[in-house]
Amino acid sequence: MNKLFESVLTVFIAQEPDYSGWMTLPFRGAGKVMATNGHSLVVLPDFPNQFVPKEEQAAMVYPIAHTCQKQFSIEQLREAISKAPLIDCFDEITRKCDVCDGEGEVEYSFSEWEFDRTIMGCCPACEGEGQTTKTSIIPNGKKEVSPLAVIKIGLSTMAVGNMSKLLRCAELLNCSTITLVSQVGKFTLSLFAVGDAEVLLMPTMTNEENTPVATIPLHSTKKQQTTPAA
Ligand SMILES: [Zn+2]
Repeated sequence: MNKLFESVLTVFIAQEPDYSGWMTLPFRGAGKVMATNGHSLVVLPDFPNQFVPKEEQAAMVYPIAHTCQKQFSIEQLREAISKAPLIDCFDEITRKCDVCDGEGEVEYSFSEWEFDRTIMGCCPACEGEGQTTKTSIIPNGKKEVSPLAVIKIGLSTMAVGNMSKLLRCAELLNCSTITLVSQVGKFTLSLFAVGDAEVLLMPTMTNEENTPVATIPLHSTKKQQTTPAA
């Protein structure tokens, strides 16, 4: 189970080189294990692990009271994602930093009082890495669904990039249905229950240029709304 949970956490961590802070690793908080990139968050039951506690960050978003019980299938989610336009993929090219010649440090010269001084410091071009990663300007021939396209679900619209993480989570945990358990407004966070996991997604702002590519129909599973047996 731990390996499976680790795979789920990997889907939600922030990816370098876009981000290089604490969100690149899962963390512990509120008696759970979590991972986030700032736009989506996954919460899993605690399991033996080396993750650092981040109680303060966890407390800012979790727990969230459940306000609804609305189900949809992962086929419906997969279908909605497939409606997004395809965009070109680009390779990431890593090469030695020319500014510091791969050393990660450069000499800084400055004047202090009457004296010219030099000190060694972290290379500003590669931030001390000794290498830089750039996105190729030529597409690599592969295509992917646009992560910025939006899907409507309940009151809110969500980015395809975030919805793809929700789908991957359900696939990894072998869940055929997902339940929307909290969504109190158009621009509030939505919480989804996926087997043992909970996934929190940020809504997106929509405008004329970014209208939803699909709407996911929700099926209410509240007890009082189920049809009584004949
Ligand atoms: Zn450098």
